[in-house]
Amino acid sequence: MTYDKNNIFAKILRGEIPCKKIYESKYVLAFYDINPQKKIHALVIPKGEYIDLEHFNQNASDVEIIEFSKGISEVAKKLKISGNGYRVLSNIGIDGGQEVPHLHYHVFGGEKIGKMVS
Ligand code: 5GP
Repeated sequence: MTYDKNNIFAKILRGEIPCKKIYESKYVLAFYDINPQKKIHALVIPKGEYIDLEHFNQNASDVEIIEFSKGISEVAKKLKISGNGYRVLSNIGIDGGQEVPHLHYHVFGGEKIGKMVS
């Protein structure tokens, strides 16, 4: 599978589509999900062209991997959800239910998130 440069998150990264930004670094962008499933629903994406977590882990540099992981904590801190806790989730591929083919972590918080899988 090759990376689709026209996926919606690639367009957000290029500034062609707006987003409500939460956090940005050299390697990471985080913004609010357009269709929030919980009180707080953020998306954290690497700036590099990676389809999913498998593609990322196989191809990203160590610094990208470290910064992406740290980006989640930065987002939790910015959203003030670190204390009470939150959930991080990444859908991968067809069985994982991934809709946008650019790696992203969902960050849910601001309330009890409930059942792990439905
Ligand atoms: P997936 O199902 O791929 O794990 O999640 C994709 C997520 O991207 C969904 O939660 C969906 O609401 C969100 N999304 C889709 N299009 C846009 C958009 O244009 N802007 C933002 N902020 N989120 C989007």
